[in-house]
Amino acid sequence: MNWILFLPWALLLLLMGLVVVLLWLALRLFSARSPLKGAFVLAIGTIAIACLAVFYVQLFIFRHYFQVPTGAMAPAILGNHANYQCATCAFSLAVGIPVDATGFSQERLRALVVPCPYCGGDRLLSLEPEVQGGDHIEVELGAEPRRWDLVAFHAPESPDKIYVKRLVGLPGEKLQIVGGDLFIDGRRLVKAPEELPDLWLLANDTRFYASAPKLAISAWMPAPDGSRWRREGASWFFNGESSGEERLEFGVSLSDQDCYNVYSQRAGRGNPDVQVRDVLIECSLGSFSGPGGLGFHWKHGDREVRATLEASGQVELSFEGTKASGRLSRPLSELKTVLFAFRDGVAAVLESAERPAVLQLAVDPEELASASPPREDLPCQVAITARQCKLAIERIVVKRDVHYRSDFRMAEIGTRQPMVLGADECFVLGDNSPNSFDSRFWRKALTRPAILGMARGIAWPPARRRAFGPGAIPAPASWSPPRRGSPSLRLWSSLVHRSGL
Ligand SMILES: [Zn+2]
Repeated sequence: MNWILFLPWALLLLLMGLVVVLLWLALRLFSARSPLKGAFVLAIGTIAIACLAVFYVQLFIFRHYFQVPTGAMAPAILGNHANYQCATCAFSLAVGIPVDATGFSQERLRALVVPCPYCGGDRLLSLEPEVQGGDHIEVELGAEPRRWDLVAFHAPESPDKIYVKRLVGLPGEKLQIVGGDLFIDGRRLVKAPEELPDLWLLANDTRFYASAPKLAISAWMPAPDGSRWRREGASWFFNGESSGEERLEFGVSLSDQDCYNVYSQRAGRGNPDVQVRDVLIECSLGSFSGPGGLGFHWKHGDREVRATLEASGQVELSFEGTKASGRLSRPLSELKTVLFAFRDGVAAVLESAERPAVLQLAVDPEELASASPPREDLPCQVAITARQCKLAIERIVVKRDVHYRSDFRMAEIGTRQPMVLGADECFVLGDNSPNSFDSRFWRKALTRPAILGMARGIAWPPARRRAFGPGAIPAPASWSPPRRGSPSLRLWSSLVHRSGL
């Protein structure tokens, strides 16, 4: 029961009740021969009701709320799910439950024997005895969406259902998914590393080792063994003021598999053989001293990128003889964080996850989709390097970019062949690509008039309330707002339609 849909009507009843009370009070006062009081009550009452009406229109006429049952947009939007906690590292995470959850007894929910994605522990414990409902989404009706925005729309093949997905292809564009990336008119669509943080999915965080000090395995391993790298809880220390470069390698494979999907049908679970090469490494620096520096090393197949950060703040990125150099805002000893990213063919060094990159280098610049698609079966290797310094990294967080899947048998649109969108057609994808029913599968294209508006944020439950970030990349000028009927008609249509995904 989607009770939130009844809120507008409850509020409307309340407003009508208030009008009746006001009229009754004003009439009584008028008849009691105190017309001044009557007029005063009428004025105050009118203002109050007008304010309520504006509030009501703001909240419900231009907005629509619905509950998302499935996890196609996870982790940004959760569908039916259960909350679990790793028995080893105590990290909590949501696991998607199929929409028809009748078979999910307390017994079945209790424990999951799957590797914890953050520490490698082998058991997740259920935090509560029941399946939790999906997030309630607030949709701004009629808002003009841009590329990467979340849009709510009538599903092309079953218009009585409302879906929410991310808008990736605009009218008139030629779109293709190759090697996990999106190509528009033959060019790779590049997201800057600081943009669309929801699309960076957490892959590993050393913080979670802190509560599991005896854990034998660690995602990061010094190479060679016995080097000057040493771990203590969540932190890694390098003690080699006179040493050459020594590596700390990330040993976990960045695959498309996601714990959220373990209860899904086989096809939707994600494939451990599909490797992701787009990665973000965030180091929280505790201290740095010495004449040397630190660096990052990224390798995928025969492509290799090196980033070197000197103690002075000088930065260099190199790829196959191509070099780019820049400067950090201050010396390494004064920096709190440094980040390395490889995303959509561009390598970057950043000082903060929110601010633009200090330095960028295009590794696969604007290549044609068909020319040299990145191989999805090769693992990506990443390492942090240090030389001639004493260094403390308090925490290392690894994230990986969304990897759009094009290898499903039924996903034929915009995958093996480019898809040319008509003058009125859009292309949408779910963030949880292995488990999303989206434009890749639909024989009928999503048209502009079918778009209800933009999903602005999560309205319920309170613990998950938040606003979605704006699509940071502006749409080309040819994109105009979808045509639509009157807002009240839209509201009516959205209220009578049962929402689904
Ligand atoms: Zn764990």
